[in-house]
Amino acid sequence: MNWSREAKEALSRVPFFVRKRVKRRVEDEAARCGANEVIMEYVRTCQKRFLNRMEDEVKGFQVETCFGPTGCPNRAVISDGLPQKLEKKLLKRNLKEFLKKRVKGPLKMHHEFRVSVSDCPNACSRPQIFDVGLIGACRPEVSGEPCTQCGACVEVCRENAISLENDVPFVDDEKCLYCGQCVGICPTGTLKEGAKGFRILVGGKLGRHPRLGTELPGVYKLEDALKVVDRCLDHYQHHCLRGERFGEILERAPLPPSHLAPGQ
Ligand code: SF4
Ligand code: SF4
Ligand code: SF4
Repeated sequence: MNWSREAKEALSRVPFFVRKRVKRRVEDEAARCGANEVIMEYVRTCQKRFLNRMEDEVKGFQVETCFGPTGCPNRAVISDGLPQKLEKKLLKRNLKEFLKKRVKGPLKMHHEFRVSVSDCPNACSRPQIFDVGLIGACRPEVSGEPCTQCGACVEVCRENAISLENDVPFVDDEKCLYCGQCVGICPTGTLKEGAKGFRILVGGKLGRHPRLGTELPGVYKLEDALKVVDRCLDHYQHHCLRGERFGEILERAPLPPSHLAPGQ
């Protein structure tokens, strides 16, 4: 649906973690009124409703995704279906009721448990500042296929992680972000896909004491990544006293080593 310039500007001022939800509500309101363009009138109506009924709007959790599933060419991994699996998992936890028992006063959006999925290390959905962030990863591996020294992999790597030594590519694991671009461009198959799945960050948040998520070691296959999310939720629900964010909890109650089992 089209948005007027004024309405678009108003939407851009909505905090990012509720922007998608607000956008959907405003478009529903415009459609309900038979309009095919969103103008300020619909934004104001929804704003009023949203503020008056904030607690009704709180779901207890949020799942944010990047635009990868719409066909972004940078995807290191195809996460189609993962956001829905996460939603299902989070819904089962009944987090709204859980939070109501712990938070004094009305529930607000910032109490919700947030998970973000980005399909590549460009991290467009900001997984670094979510309670759990998943980043699509494809680790390059050197196969036995001869390298022609064409240099395409060196050129495509934005991290300067590849060097060509003795007719063989060398990937510096300290620098590599597992974007998989070098694998995609190698014409000979000398660089092939190794571990593929997700890097996992835990405990990111903004607010008064911002904190970037801490990365767990390794790359997790989709099913293993879902298990880690489950363990994080267990830990969160066990230690959450008054609706505080996961990052705050991790500072006083770090994840036990069993939760940190490395991925591939
Ligand atoms: S995070 Fe990567 S895959 Fe997702 S939209 Fe951004 S560039 Fe594309
Ligand atoms: S996966 Fe990405 S960051 Fe790693 S070596 Fe290849 S191009 Fe560079
Ligand atoms: S792209 Fe493949 S063939 Fe070309 S230099 Fe890199 S590893 Fe060798």
